[in-house]
Amino acid sequence: MITMEETKVETKTNEAPSEPKKILPNGGYPMHTYEDLRELAFSYIKNEKSRKMVADAYELAKTKHAGVFRKSGEPYIQHPIEVAYILAQLQVGPETLAAGLLHDTVEDTDLTIEDIRKQFGNDVAMIVDSLTKIQRMKLSHRTEQDFEAEDHRKIFLGMAKDVRVIIVKLADRLHNLRTLDALKPERQKALSKETLEVFTPIAHRLGIYKMQSEMEDLSLKYLEPDKYNEILNLLNEREKNRQESLNNLKKRIADLVFEQGIPFRMESRVKSIYSIYRKMYLKHYNFDEIYDVLAVRVITNTILQCYEILGIVHATFKPIPGRFKDYIAMPKPNMYQSLHTTIVSGDGNIYEVQIRTEEMDQVAEEGVAAHWKYKEGSSYNAREEQKDIEDKLHWFRDFVSMSDQENTADAKDYMAALSNDIFNANVYVFTPKGKVIDLPNGATTLDFAYKIHTKVGDSAVGAVVNGTMVPLNTILKTGDVCEIKTSKNSPGPNQGWLEIAKTASAKSHIKKAIQKNSAFLRQENIQKGYTACVESFKAQDISEADMVKMIDQKVLDEFHMADTDSLYEAISSRNVTPYQIIDFLHVRKKSSDVKEIRHHSSMDAKNPVVVDGVDNLAISLAKCCCPIPGDDIVGYVSKGKGIIVHRITCPNIANAGKRTIPVHWNEDLGISTYPVAIQIYAGDRNNLLTDIMGVFSAKNIAVDNLKCHVIQESMTAVTGVTVYVSDSQTLEDLFTALLALKSVFDVKRIVH
Ligand code: MN
Repeated sequence: MITMEETKVETKTNEAPSEPKKILPNGGYPMHTYEDLRELAFSYIKNEKSRKMVADAYELAKTKHAGVFRKSGEPYIQHPIEVAYILAQLQVGPETLAAGLLHDTVEDTDLTIEDIRKQFGNDVAMIVDSLTKIQRMKLSHRTEQDFEAEDHRKIFLGMAKDVRVIIVKLADRLHNLRTLDALKPERQKALSKETLEVFTPIAHRLGIYKMQSEMEDLSLKYLEPDKYNEILNLLNEREKNRQESLNNLKKRIADLVFEQGIPFRMESRVKSIYSIYRKMYLKHYNFDEIYDVLAVRVITNTILQCYEILGIVHATFKPIPGRFKDYIAMPKPNMYQSLHTTIVSGDGNIYEVQIRTEEMDQVAEEGVAAHWKYKEGSSYNAREEQKDIEDKLHWFRDFVSMSDQENTADAKDYMAALSNDIFNANVYVFTPKGKVIDLPNGATTLDFAYKIHTKVGDSAVGAVVNGTMVPLNTILKTGDVCEIKTSKNSPGPNQGWLEIAKTASAKSHIKKAIQKNSAFLRQENIQKGYTACVESFKAQDISEADMVKMIDQKVLDEFHMADTDSLYEAISSRNVTPYQIIDFLHVRKKSSDVKEIRHHSSMDAKNPVVVDGVDNLAISLAKCCCPIPGDDIVGYVSKGKGIIVHRITCPNIANAGKRTIPVHWNEDLGISTYPVAIQIYAGDRNNLLTDIMGVFSAKNIAVDNLKCHVIQESMTAVTGVTVYVSDSQTLEDLFTALLALKSVFDVKRIVH
C-alpha cells in the first residue's frame, strides 16, 4: 500500500462541549462525496461541455488513484474531491476544477501531462504541470536553510505562472492541513512552518482571507499548541460573558438602521486565533487590550449606505479616537474595502464595527477569487486575467517579474527580496490620486518612483511628500502622499541610487539600467576613439581603409589589447594615443605639421596686459579671480609686487578705490593659455567625469587640479577643475559645451 503525505480527515465526533463551533472554525470537517462536489459545481456551471470536463476529470482521477489509500485507509480520491470542493466554493472555472481533481495524478500515477493535454487541453495541462513541479520538491525532510530557500523559491516560481495555479495549490495545502492529525508531530510542524512562510503570505496578498485565516489557525495549532489552546480558552471564557452584550449591541444597531429604511444584514465575527496570537506574542498586547476580538459586521447595498450607517453608529455610540479607517476610499493593496470603527457599547464593552457592501464582503473573504469568479458564457482568457490581476494588484507585477529572473537570483536573495518587497510591505503610501502603494519599512521616495513605473524611477529627480519637496532618499511612512518629480535631466540610474533604493525590484531595475548604460557608453567611446584614430592617420596621409588594415594583431599585442574595440576605447579614454600607434608603425610623416599646443602658466615671456603709457612694469594676474584675455580687467597697485590684474567683478578689489588703475589686454599675444578655476554642478550619474573629460579633450583644453565630490542630500556632483584657456570666448564656448552634457545644470568660474 502506498502511503501519501495527505492523511484522512479526522471527523471530530467527540468535540468538547465547551468549544462552541463558531469559535472553533477549524474543528471538524465533513467529508464530501463526488455527488456533493457535483451539486455545488453544477450550481454555477451549466454548460454541458464544461460539466463533462469536470465529470471526466473526476473519472480519470478516480481510475488512476484506484487502489491507493491514504494512511488511514481512506481511498486516495477523497483528497482531490475535497480540494475541488474548496475550489468550487470559490466558484472557479471548469478548467481549474478539473486541474484540482487531477492535481496529483501526474506525480503519483502513470498519467502524463501529454495525456492530460490531449483530453483536457492546454490550460488544465499547464496548471497540473506547474503543481506537479511544485509537488516534486515537497518538503523532502530538508532542514538546511539553503535547500529550504531553494524549495520555497521553486514553489513561488511555479505559482507565479498563473493565478489559478496559486489557488489550486492553496486549496491543496488547506486540505492537507485539515487532515494533518495522523502525521508525526515532526511532519506536522514542518508543513505548518512552510505554510506560514510560503502559502499564507501569498493568500494574504491575494486577499483570500477565508483560506488564509484557516491555514494560519491550523498551522498555529501544530506549531504552538499551548498558545493556540490558551487563546481558544480565553475566547471561550469571554464569549460566554459577551454573548448577551453582543446581542444587545446588534439589536440596537439593527433597529436604528432599520428605522432609516436602509437595507442591511448583520454578522458578528471573532478575530482569528492566529491574529490574536500575533497581537499577543509578537506585538505584546494583553488579551483584553485587543479591542477588535469581536466585530460586528453590517453589510448593505451601496457605498452611500455604508457611510449612512457609519453616521448612525457614530451618532449613537462613542467612537474610540484614531480607530476609524476608511478602506472604501483607500482600499488595501489586496483590494480589501470596508469602513472600520471601534465603539464603546452602552455597557462599556468595546467592539469593532465593520461596514461594507455585499460585493466588498465577498472580496474581503475571497479576495482575488471573488473578482474572477467563473462566469458562464464569458470566454476565459488566461493572459488577460493575469494582466488584469497585475493591474489590480500592483505587487503581483513585481512578483511575476521577480520570478522571471529564475537563473540570475540566488534562492536566498530571491526569498529575501520577496519577503522584503512583497510580504512585509506594510507601509502604505498614497499617490496624489489616492492609489495605495505598499512598500517595505525604510523604503524611500526612489522606491516609490520605481513602484509607479520603471520610467518614472529612471527619470526621478525628487518628490513632493505631503506638499514639501524632498530628495529621493527620503524614507516614506504610512499615510504619506507622495508625488514624484521627473526630469529629462535626471541623473538616471547610478551607483548612488543603489544605496538609496531599499526594495529589490528598484535595485534590480537600477542595476539593469546601469549595465545597459555602460554598454551604450562603451559603444560611444569606441566610436570616438576610432574617429580620433582615423583623423590622426589622415594627418599622416593614411586613408581610413589603410589604417584599419594597419591596426593588426601586432599593434594589439604591443598595446596589450584583446581586440580593436578595446584599443579604440583606450584611445577615447586617452590611455593610448593615435600617435603612439603611428610611431609604433613607423608611419609618421617626416615634417610633421601637427601643432603642439603649448600650455603656459599665468605669465608668458610677453606681458599679456599693458598699462597705458607704462612699460617694463611688474604685472601679474590675480590668483583669486584668474582673469583671461577678453575679461574686463582692472589693475591693482600693490605694495612691492607691482600691478596685479583682477577681473572688474572680483570682490577682492571692490573697495580698492584709488589704488586701481586702468589696464587692457595686449592684443598681440600669440598662443598662450591661462588657468581658470571652474566648478561644474551636475546630477550625479555614471560616467559623468568621463563625459566632462571628453569635452576638455574634444576642445584640446588642458586641465589641472581636478576634484569631484558628491553632495549626498541632493545627489549633486560638484567637479572643481582648473582649465587652461586662451581667452574668455574659449571659456564661454567651453561652458556651453559642458552645460550641454546630460545632468549638468550649472558651470561657474570660481573666485577665491
Ligand atoms: Mn495534493
